Parts: sequence; structure tokens; C-alpha cells
Amino acid sequence: MNKLNINSRIVLNNKVEMPTIGFGVWQLSEGEEVINAVKLALAAGYRLIDTAKIYKNEEGVGKAIKESGLPREEIFITTKLWNTDQGYASTLKAIDESLAKLGTSYVDLYLIHWPTADGDLKIKKSFNKREETWRAMEEIYKSGKAKAIGVSNYTITHLEEMKKYAKIPPAVNQVEFHPFLYQAELLNYCNENDIVLEAYSPLMHGERLNNETITNIAQRYGKSNAQVILRWNLQLGAVPIPKSAHQEHIIENIKVFDFELKEEEMKRIDNLNQNLHLRFDPANLE
Ligand code: NDP
Repeated sequence: MNKLNINSRIVLNNKVEMPTIGFGVWQLSEGEEVINAVKLALAAGYRLIDTAKIYKNEEGVGKAIKESGLPREEIFITTKLWNTDQGYASTLKAIDESLAKLGTSYVDLYLIHWPTADGDLKIKKSFNKREETWRAMEEIYKSGKAKAIGVSNYTITHLEEMKKYAKIPPAVNQVEFHPFLYQAELLNYCNENDIVLEAYSPLMHGERLNNETITNIAQRYGKSNAQVILRWNLQLGAVPIPKSAHQEHIIENIKVFDFELKEEEMKRIDNLNQNLHLRFDPANLE
């Protein structure tokens, strides 16, 4: 584990290599804010940028990547299919729109954002187009427009259902994952099924960082609470994608390769779990 470094890559089930930490851009507004943040992130060493159609900042992400001067193939771009674009034909259309906005001929990873085709996540009895949408995702993969395909907010039930219809298994499942929502069962399931678990809202949206247990561990290493939490993710084999609009945090969040948590410290953080979903629990989506 101590061999993890900023250049470490995790190998997906189709042999594509993905960085072990990424930069999330949800709530960074289109234009100057997202362009600046992505440029700062790339300069700090992040090589995975996580966006989505619904974040409405794909154009800025594309611009920042171009302006960074880094070769396209050095950067791992993820974007996501929004719920209301689910369905076979509309999925094929949505990827082309995202690629045009990003200014690239392919994304490294394309994800189905939620297991529902409904834009309103609070509706429990939502309509489900998962199977036909995945058929389109497989076409997109075969066409080379996405180097890997996966899902987001899928529970074990949704993933088990996929086994009935998927010809190409998902490479990644991006879910809410942090010390207060330590989804151990889902992580084990993903490991057993060769799916990489990507951890979103790894810093609990910045809302609950001041936890005594975490502060106590952070002080031992002269690290911040955010760094300890991100390191916990990395040591579990989850890929965290923290977001920040500020240079200081952007840099801080990737300085997580110069210390290693002990097993006892990992366990103490595991034990903070409260099954707390900060936003929506996809278990409610049938
Ligand atoms: P995070 O857990 O990454 O937290 C972001 C918040 O934490 C911001 O308010 C930020 O403030 C603050 N912060 C960041 N770094 C630090 C630090 N070192 N110390 C103190 N505060 C800090 O939340 P997100 O919900 O944004 O999740 C990250 C990414 O995951 C998203 O951007 C998106 O890409 C993805 N995501 C995916 C979802 C999905 O459904 N698939 C759903 C939600 C997120 P500041 O900007 O001021 O630094």
C-alpha cells in the first residue's frame, strides 16, 4: 500500500488504467470558475477529471484541458449520462453532445448517472430504462467513444440485475462513500465482481470534517482531516474524487501519498459509519 503514489493507476476490468484519485467538478460553474479549478488541479498533479452533463460545465472542463497543454491521452475524463437522456437512441445522442462540449473524440469513462430515468430523484416508483440504456452504453464502448463504461449510484440489487442483461460488465460504480457512509458490503461486492468503486462526496461535502477521531489521527501525521479521509479511501482501494474551488484545498487533497494509516487507524475510521446518505439513497430507486 505504501507504494501508492501520485502516478499510481488502478486497472479496470477491460485493462484500461485509471488514476487512483480524481478531481470532481460538481457545483463549479461553467466558465472561469471551472476552467481555473481544473487548470489548478492538473497543475497539482490530478489526471482524472469527473464531470457530468447535469453539472453544465463540460465545455469549461474541455477548455481547461486544452489550455493546460497536457496531451489528451495523459488525462482521464469521466462524464455521465443524465437520467432524462436514458433510453437507447437518446443515450447515443447524449454522448455525442457531451463529446462536442468537452471538445474531444472520446471520454475515458462514461457512466449512467443514476439507476432511474426520472429527473426527480425523490420519486420512488421511477421508470426504469436500465437495460436499453446499457445496450446503448455497450454500443458507445464498441465505437471507441468511451474507453470504459460504468454506472453510478447502483446498489448491489441494481448490479445483480445487470448480470441478466449486460454483455459488457460495468468497469466502475461511482457511489457516495465516506467515513459516515462506509459501504463495506458494496465495496466487497465490487471487488469480487471486478468493478472499481469510485467514491463521490469523499469529504462529506465539506460538512462534517471536524470529527474528533479523524482529528486525533490527523494530528499524529501532521495532516489535515481531509487528507486522512482521502488516504482512508485510497487504502481501501476506493478512488476518491474530491471537489474544491480553492487552490489551497485542491493542492492539499492530492498530498496524500506521503503517509500511511495503520490498520488500527483504518478500523477506527471504518467504525465511524452511520449509513448516512448526505443527499439521496439510491436504494429507494426501484
Ligand atoms: P466533496 O466531498 O468532494 O466535498 C467538497 C466540499 O468540501 C466543498 O465545499 C469544498 O469547499 C470542501 N473542501 C474540499 N477540500 C477541502 C479541504 N481540504 N478542507 C476543507 N474543505 C474542503 O463533495 P462533492 O459532493 O463535490 O463530491 C466530489 C465529486 O464527486 C463531485 O464534484 C462530483 O464530481 C462527484 N459526485 C458525483 C455524484 C454522483 O451522483 N455520481 C454525486 C455527488 C458528487 P471548497 O470548494 O471551498 O474547497
